[in-house]
Amino acid sequence: MNRLPPLPDLSRLCIHTVTTKPWSIEEIADRYPAAGVKGITVWRQNLEGRDPAKIGELLRGNGLDIVSLCRGGFFPATSEGDRQAAIDDNRKAIEEAASLGAPLIVLVCGAVPGMPLEQARDQIRAGIEAVLPDCERTGVKLGIEPLHPMYADARSAVNTMKQANDMCEQIGSDYVGVAADVYHLWWDPDLQSEIARCGELGKLFAFHVCDWKTPTADMLNDRGLMGEGCIDIRRIRSWVEATGFKGFNEVEIFSSHHWAKDQNVFLEEIVKAYRQHV
Ligand code: ZN
Repeated sequence: MNRLPPLPDLSRLCIHTVTTKPWSIEEIADRYPAAGVKGITVWRQNLEGRDPAKIGELLRGNGLDIVSLCRGGFFPATSEGDRQAAIDDNRKAIEEAASLGAPLIVLVCGAVPGMPLEQARDQIRAGIEAVLPDCERTGVKLGIEPLHPMYADARSAVNTMKQANDMCEQIGSDYVGVAADVYHLWWDPDLQSEIARCGELGKLFAFHVCDWKTPTADMLNDRGLMGEGCIDIRRIRSWVEATGFKGFNEVEIFSSHHWAKDQNVFLEEIVKAYRQHV
């Protein structure tokens, strides 16, 4: 068992814009740096009606590192037309990421209720392969994010680090790796060894943190702030850092409860929780 790493300073604190959903990207551009946040992962809805290049300049000008764009994926579909539409949308996301200056797109890979999961994974792999020329042209990488199996029906047929690692090996591109999120992966008995394997493959592209609440009242929008739940985040971070990972620790919280409060207060709570529990 690894020794636990020291509690973090803020130098690698990144926040996903969806975490403070009530704020516009312009408000976020001011408030994250003022709170000591160093990195930002931009959700695509924050770019609606905006010029991604200008948003990129704004964020970098305020001292934020743009870590990734969320999200691409949702490749599986029951018709050829819908599969092609998904590929087209992912190509558009890659262009947005390139304009924004985001080096990575996080993939929520997709699933279709009733479609065998193996078939969905085949379609995911084919979808990723279809957009690889765009990645090679722009330099934007793709991070397969394994999702908790409670989402295997409709959000992702990739549910473990092992499946994500296997898919990376099958695709065999420098542009495809894994985004590891403690919320989705904390329960997996093979997590430590598969994180190590991901590191050996050179595929660990991103690390997301939040917490798992008991009880969880909503499958989508009841994630906990770090320390509110049962995930041993520091231990998982120790496994991630044992691979040599030097990237950001990205706070990503969907929470109706936290969105309902003053987001300035919530941002202070995030920074405090990050120092104490990540
Ligand atoms: Zn995540």
